[in-house]
Amino acid sequence: MSVVGIDLGNLQAVIAVARNRGIDVICNEVSNRATPNIVSFGPKQRYLGEAAKTQEISNAKNTIVSLKRLAGRTFDDPEVQEVEKNFIMAELADANGQAGVKVNYLGEEQVFSNVQLIAMYLNKIKDITAAEIKGPVSDCVITVPGWFTEVQRRAVLAAAEMVGLNCLRLVNDLTAAALGYGITKTDLPEEKPRNVAFVDIGHSSYTCQIASFLKGQLTVRGQAFDEHFGGREFDAVIVDKLAAQFKEKFKIDVYTNKKALLRLRVAAERCKKVLSANPQAPVNIESIMDDRDVSAMVNREEFEEWASHLFTRTEEVLAKALENAGMKIDEIDYVEMVGGTTRIPAIKATISKFFGKEISTTLNQDEAVARGAALQCAMLSPVFKVRDFRVNDVVTYPIKLTWEATPEEEETEIVVFDNNNSIPSTKILTFFRREPFTLQAVYANPEALPRGINPWIGQYTIKNVEPVNGEPAQIKVKVRLNIHGILSVESAYTVEEKMVDEETKNKDGEKEIKKVKKLVKTGDLPVVSGTTALPKELINEYTEKESQMYANDKLIAATEAAKNSLEEYGYEMRDKILGPLSEYIDPSIKDKFAEDLNAVVDWIYDEGYDAPKSVYVEKLDALKKIGNPVVERYREAEARPHAERALRDTM
Ligand code: ATP
Ligand code: MG
Repeated sequence: MSVVGIDLGNLQAVIAVARNRGIDVICNEVSNRATPNIVSFGPKQRYLGEAAKTQEISNAKNTIVSLKRLAGRTFDDPEVQEVEKNFIMAELADANGQAGVKVNYLGEEQVFSNVQLIAMYLNKIKDITAAEIKGPVSDCVITVPGWFTEVQRRAVLAAAEMVGLNCLRLVNDLTAAALGYGITKTDLPEEKPRNVAFVDIGHSSYTCQIASFLKGQLTVRGQAFDEHFGGREFDAVIVDKLAAQFKEKFKIDVYTNKKALLRLRVAAERCKKVLSANPQAPVNIESIMDDRDVSAMVNREEFEEWASHLFTRTEEVLAKALENAGMKIDEIDYVEMVGGTTRIPAIKATISKFFGKEISTTLNQDEAVARGAALQCAMLSPVFKVRDFRVNDVVTYPIKLTWEATPEEEETEIVVFDNNNSIPSTKILTFFRREPFTLQAVYANPEALPRGINPWIGQYTIKNVEPVNGEPAQIKVKVRLNIHGILSVESAYTVEEKMVDEETKNKDGEKEIKKVKKLVKTGDLPVVSGTTALPKELINEYTEKESQMYANDKLIAATEAAKNSLEEYGYEMRDKILGPLSEYIDPSIKDKFAEDLNAVVDWIYDEGYDAPKSVYVEKLDALKKIGNPVVERYREAEARPHAERALRDTM
């Protein structure tokens, strides 16, 4: 059984697997330890991950990046229209009410929703993992930003489900990192907790989480976010400044040319990375547009000045996290950083200065989140034994339930899961009702939510409620916030006060039966829920479609492989027939065979370029029918002297 952790980053995903030796980060098909989070569509197939990256500029209109940012959002969400639109070159579209894209795939226009796109990418991640562990992949833990709300979490879970990934837990990025940190530390205190501030600045967002460690457990104390602070914001600053320079110096406007803009973005990201280790970085782009080459030199101070508005925002998140944790700076014992953007020296310096501490380097900046996720998966999986370690994560946004007032009850709402309530968590609420009633679940502080997210979580109708002896029935409602951070009403039931026998002991230690009043469950009530989950039929439709597309991609790959084998055989045999194999082939068929081999190679480059797989396979089989006996005779002849020698040696 698989034990897999997936750090689903906005730029790239890192995959870690638990094996008997420990946790390993695995490589993809081109030996990279992170896989680009990109999906691309072509006339014959899809391109996923690394293959999609090579399409990013040449096939920009059908290539989608920043998938994670679209998760659970609607098409008209301002975040989609005003922010993500700047990063995604494909045309955004409404897909069954969800944010999606319209692309040209298999020669026709098709619309895919964000859940479908994420599923496609996760299917690729699953394939990469299966190839590495040489077995099926199902159980996994996927990480999401701590600021993801229910609808966003549901989108990722649905995508995983569609591709047969059994997500045991959606865990917050930094909670995963904190778990990895805690479980490997052998010197955690027994009494006074060790407080660690974890900072993650990735490609698109920034999180600070403060966690307290004791031997065998961690408790998340508080967190804060900036959902619009990541590497891509820094890239955009460089792009903006260079675009202005190019306009003046070279008289070109890259904003009028998508391809030019994309190429400048790639160059800007490279420039930013070079500046993390060097005082200056050159930017050169050949024939960026209008046949013009452009070049510039950016130095670090200049970059820091350009991005000063971002650097001044760095401290805000740290201060907010402390405030949410109810802590002061001097209570923080260690500071750990993950995420690619924390490599920017000015960011590192700001964080270090804020806490008045050197940054610790226990964690692998790029891999800690995935490793933590794999550890969490191992802990939840029955096949692995992991050292006991408790992870007490907390609610990011308080959740309240609301209902209509009744003559007996004026109250109409309650905060069921408040800030810093641990997850998972179950609460039992009591109601007195004469008839069926409905509870609405909403995020209690809509202004704290990421922009564009509707605060509504769900609606739950408790049915079959009737008065008991003319009085309102007493009803218990069990509300659960599960391990993924998703809310549900698990059950509802009636209770009544009844006299029951209870066994107690009197002061002489003798048993006594006493009649006492007790609440007893008297019946279950059906609950009808409405949530932000996609309808089951739609998920089924998506799942079906995904497996068709997957099968098509596999067929295209197999066809390509069959074509390559045929071509290789054609070339190789043609040379060998005229060379080493020449004396082992019947002279009467030799010329004809060589001719056939030539013909097949020519055919591949001509009308055979787009043939179905079966045709390549048949042609190869036909050639091998003639070629194999020749190769066989050659091998026998080659082996003979060795056999004779071996016989001689034993005499
Ligand atoms: P997110 O966590 O926001 O969803 P992610 O997990 O995919 O995104 P990371 O892989 O942590 O993001 O970081 C990627 C970002 O880090 C990119 O913007 C990249 O340009 C930036 N980055 C990587 N190396 C460096 C470097 N040496 N200097 C500056 N930035 C860097
Ligand atoms: Mg990340």
